Amino acid sequence: MRRGLAADLRRIVGSGGVVSGGKELSQVTGDALNTFRAFRAAECLAVSPAAAVFPTSTQQVSRVLKFANTHRIPVVPYGAGTGVMGAAAPVEDCIVLGLRRMDAVRNVSGEDMTARVQAGVVLEAAAKALEKAGLLLGHDPWSRPIATTGGAISTDSVGYTGAKHGSMGGQVLGLEAVLAGGEVVRTRAVPNRASGPDLHGLFVGTEGTLGVVTEATLRVFPKPEAWRLIPFTFPNFESGYHAVAAMYSLGLRPTVVDYESNLWPSDAETDSTAKLYLGFDGPGGVVEAETARAWSICLEMGGREGKPSDAAKFWRTRHSIALRYQRRLAKAADPVAARRGAGGFRMDYLHVALPASKVLEYRRRCQKILASHRVAVREWSLWARPELLSFLIEDDRDAGGQTSHSLAEAVDKVLTPAQRMGGSMEYCHGVGLKLAHLVEGESDGGAAATKRIKAALDPNNILNPGKLLG
Ligand SMILES: Cc1cc2nc3c(=O)[nH]c(=O)nc-3n(C[C@H](O)[C@H](O)[C@H](O)COP(=O)(O)OP(=O)(O)OC[C@H]3O[C@@H](n4cnc5c(N)ncnc54)[C@H](O)[C@@H]3O)c2cc1C
Repeated sequence: MRRGLAADLRRIVGSGGVVSGGKELSQVTGDALNTFRAFRAAECLAVSPAAAVFPTSTQQVSRVLKFANTHRIPVVPYGAGTGVMGAAAPVEDCIVLGLRRMDAVRNVSGEDMTARVQAGVVLEAAAKALEKAGLLLGHDPWSRPIATTGGAISTDSVGYTGAKHGSMGGQVLGLEAVLAGGEVVRTRAVPNRASGPDLHGLFVGTEGTLGVVTEATLRVFPKPEAWRLIPFTFPNFESGYHAVAAMYSLGLRPTVVDYESNLWPSDAETDSTAKLYLGFDGPGGVVEAETARAWSICLEMGGREGKPSDAAKFWRTRHSIALRYQRRLAKAADPVAARRGAGGFRMDYLHVALPASKVLEYRRRCQKILASHRVAVREWSLWARPELLSFLIEDDRDAGGQTSHSLAEAVDKVLTPAQRMGGSMEYCHGVGLKLAHLVEGESDGGAAATKRIKAALDPNNILNPGKLLG
């Protein structure tokens, strides 16, 4: 660690904005990637940062980056540390640059249908500010009560209403970011600009490797006149898949598509618990018509109406896991140990994007690969679109070990076919430490160009090194 680092940083952000040890530093050491799921990257989680700095303005972010660049100190941008891939995990002797003190909702405009927010605004706070103005935030992940806007942009996160509103990145109209050398760049908040290149795309889903997002203007939506959430059950995963695909082929656009086929050992060895929650919102007549059409498609594909009380519970409790996670960390005497252990969660969850025509074939291939590794699938699910397939896997044989080598191998073996079939290995959580070794597999000849962009914007490789962009 550089001598006098904390004092240097205090000169930039003031005495209340720097921590260099103790529980406060451990609160921003690491993210929600636990040792078990980190597999081959597990030892990287043992690293500690040199210090953490919490600026209150874009100018301070700029000065911190200028300082770090001059002294070649790595910087890891940090929102709320809820990322599940280790993208916000510290690297040796780094400065963690936390955005939590930049949490203002600057402007909400019902006329422009936009909200300008600082990067450290927690999504829930943004949603509440919009609600007061009769507006809706289009991004609603499980982690809405705990994740920040900057983190969601940097991981291009997907939420419950992603079926209608797309990922977080797609809702960014314009943003402000600070480059490694301290230069501030701003992009205009308009729905389209024909005079490219589109600079703001550089900061979406790039995990803080090309710049630190300090502010964003988001597209927001009217509070809907009507809202319907309907539950269906299907006899197997395929039939529900066909129902969702048929809706998309017809041009129906639900707001929520949450489809999950549960295969926990306590259930029968069939997909009989395949449950689909479909949400529609918008003008009353439109919602009625869309719901009726979706309903008849579900029945045609073998679905049966589920219990409305199940749907209500599903919606009411959609953020419960995040709140539990937050409570557990708040109570922990050692937040780093709590994150690394993560409550004994000994499974992995994967989220691949594929052309719709390949999803079922891919799923069949996965089943074979996983069976040959003696890895069990506990859930198959679709989120938002028929192209977005998720699955939860578990290797019972390693239940007592620290990490599962067979599970790690199986994960690589199922993600690479997704890439070869024209898909992507991860559609919402990013790459971080966990999947960095597979990035090349979907670069499609673009790796050299990406390296040149990184070298031009961050020639000393100080921004989040060792992750997405090497
Ligand atoms: C219980 C739980 C539920 C979850 N549910 C979902 C879900 O439904 N959908 C989903 O997509 N994800 C989900 N996640 C993952 C996580 O919440 C998202 O990845 C979220 O977007 C991360 O936000 P964060 O503020 O915590 O970012 P962090 O974890 O702090 O950072 C994530 C990445 O972004 C970078 N970064 C953070 N802020 C900035 C910035 N201002 N500028 C540049 N780079 C920055 C970091 O360096 C890191 O690379 C969940 C996680 C948990 C623990």
